[in-house]
Amino acid sequence: MNFLRVHGHVGANDGLRVSSQEFQYQARITTPDKLNYLILVPTLRCNLSCSYCQVSRVGEDTNGYDWTDETLGDVIEFIDALDGSEIKIEFQGGEPTLRLDIISNIIAACDRFEQAEFVICTNLAHLTPELIALLRDERVYISTSLDGSRLVHQQQRTSQVDATDRFFDNLAKVVEQIGIDRVSALPTIDQRNPPEPQSLIDAYASFGFSHLFLRPINYQGFARKRHPSSGKDHSEWWSYYYRFIDALIARNHSDLTMVLEETYLSLCLKRIFRLGVDGHVDLRNPNPVGIDYLVIDHDGALYPTDEARMLTRSGVVDLTMGHVRSGIDRQRQKLFNANASNFGDPDCDRCTYQPYCGRDFIDDLSRYGRIDLPRHESFFCQKHLHIFDLCMRLIYSEEAAVQYSLAKWLGLAGNALPLQPYAL
Ligand code: SF4
Repeated sequence: MNFLRVHGHVGANDGLRVSSQEFQYQARITTPDKLNYLILVPTLRCNLSCSYCQVSRVGEDTNGYDWTDETLGDVIEFIDALDGSEIKIEFQGGEPTLRLDIISNIIAACDRFEQAEFVICTNLAHLTPELIALLRDERVYISTSLDGSRLVHQQQRTSQVDATDRFFDNLAKVVEQIGIDRVSALPTIDQRNPPEPQSLIDAYASFGFSHLFLRPINYQGFARKRHPSSGKDHSEWWSYYYRFIDALIARNHSDLTMVLEETYLSLCLKRIFRLGVDGHVDLRNPNPVGIDYLVIDHDGALYPTDEARMLTRSGVVDLTMGHVRSGIDRQRQKLFNANASNFGDPDCDRCTYQPYCGRDFIDDLSRYGRIDLPRHESFFCQKHLHIFDLCMRLIYSEEAAVQYSLAKWLGLAGNALPLQPYAL
């Protein structure tokens, strides 16, 4: 303690507890420095038309929505100019597997990186020999959508029985060929008609998935036009979310062979208990754009996030941040990043969850067309109040089933948190 005082790390009257709290606060602050994560959109064309498609898409046969040879060359040049020895690239669309030739070119252009990871976000409507060949590269991962049982998935995505069967067959084949560790899936939940939690959990467990990231239909981009009610009342969503977590906890405790987790809840728990969990772009503070990750659209336009791309294409607000040929527009980036932190916000500065929470000004723009709404009125804030309140309830629960799941989600060795909870 004397060392800390002498070197100016703590004030003369600070106790160790205050210093520890300040250190933990600082250690959760995000300081990204290097661009090493690109979301690439080689085509906007898609072979499905899901009702809540969150990304702008055009029909499979539409011309003029793929990267040109020139754009591909520009992107490769952009990648060549990146510093560092690591890169992660996510291919989105549209349906990016319609342009496997572009994906192969990009992967080849990343040979110089010591560590590279490529995620193909695909609807798995088709599993072509070319895609199977690409998956032999162990750096390539698959991310897909699985909305629940066959019936739910068909209602929301594939429309027809044979297309649904094909998707389920393709998913099983991919898992078998490259292993569950290289495949992930996300459900999108229609909150007006959500699947029973147990059936959703069963659908994921049947493929061996241990992670689910529950998402309601997103009130952004094109989804907002088709489902205007999805942006208003979220009470149904939270009651569904709580039911789902209860079902997950009960399932984990009744079948000890496999632990399933809801990815965002686990992330929030880790933010509470651990230092340095600050890399998730949905939950970090500050949350500056254009520094460590970037989106390159089908026409070479740069965007800070995929949501920003959708908002721009919906005509809500222009959030482009340059072009792959001319580089990042630093003026716009500076403007965006002036509002990328929860520090100094009158609500957040008084909030007990501030050290764990984050900031998402693009979500505010999407929902309200402004970023200066009193924070506690925003969806982002209400969502995090709900989830952190839930975390606290779980942490202080003495139920063996709850403690078991918490210990596993936090990666602890035992079957319960090693805490003596304070009386609330
Ligand atoms: S929960 Fe709300 S008030 Fe608290 S830090 Fe997060 S955004 Fe700010």
